[in-house]
Amino acid sequence: MSAKPSLQVTAIPAFADNYLWLIHDQQHAAVVDPGDAAPVEAALASLNLKLDAILLTHHHGDHAGGVPALLARWPVPVYGPAREKIAGLSHPLTEGDSVQLPALGLSLSVIDVPGHTAGHIAYVTADQRWLFCGDTLFAGGCGRLFEGTPAQMTASLAKLAALPDDTKVYCAHEYTVSNLRFALAAEPGNPAVAARLAHEEHRRSRGEATVPSTIGVERQTNPFLRNAETGVLHTLQAEGRLSGNDPVAAFAALREWKNSYRG
Ligand SMILES: [Zn+2]
Repeated sequence: MSAKPSLQVTAIPAFADNYLWLIHDQQHAAVVDPGDAAPVEAALASLNLKLDAILLTHHHGDHAGGVPALLARWPVPVYGPAREKIAGLSHPLTEGDSVQLPALGLSLSVIDVPGHTAGHIAYVTADQRWLFCGDTLFAGGCGRLFEGTPAQMTASLAKLAALPDDTKVYCAHEYTVSNLRFALAAEPGNPAVAARLAHEEHRRSRGEATVPSTIGVERQTNPFLRNAETGVLHTLQAEGRLSGNDPVAAFAALREWKNSYRG
């Protein structure tokens, strides 16, 4: 199956700060995490696309809530995590599985990334180097731990960080600026964080999306991927949030600090 050069990814803004992702080739489309059906239907109509598949990363309503309404109009396969209960799920997936979408010439492989939820999965396309990671990795941050442990989440994020640097990160929320303000507090000596914050604030001031990001940029600036870096460890120790150098304890301290950070 060869990739179509015309294949593209379009952001559909939804709710206050979600992005639903539409993968399409001008004719056929697959939607990732349709929390709401109405904006997806509007995008399909305006681009004159036929929906071929629904891909889900986890069970939260702002990611899967639009599935029943979409299925009522488009009887398509619904791919999603085998370890989570989701209405309409027809193709349960775990790590090592792949999804073939012949109409789009698209092949996606599945990675287990538990932490935000217990069964959360991510999709990677090796040909295009696209990552659809739901609420696991964000631009400059990561998802909250609703169902998983810091050890699970650090292992999940490490899998994503190991992808090629030019992999595009299609995360599900526009949280980048507030994430980077926290990143600067966590690692004030990292000039890449300050530069990225200024750049993303400028983009937001013009109403632009700050995603997709790339794995390379995240590895340089995202404190949740830098939980073993000296600068981050020193900040956590100076703040009295960490003793020692354990990366999982450092991740847990970062996540707890971020949960209450109002910088
Ligand atoms: Zn979620």
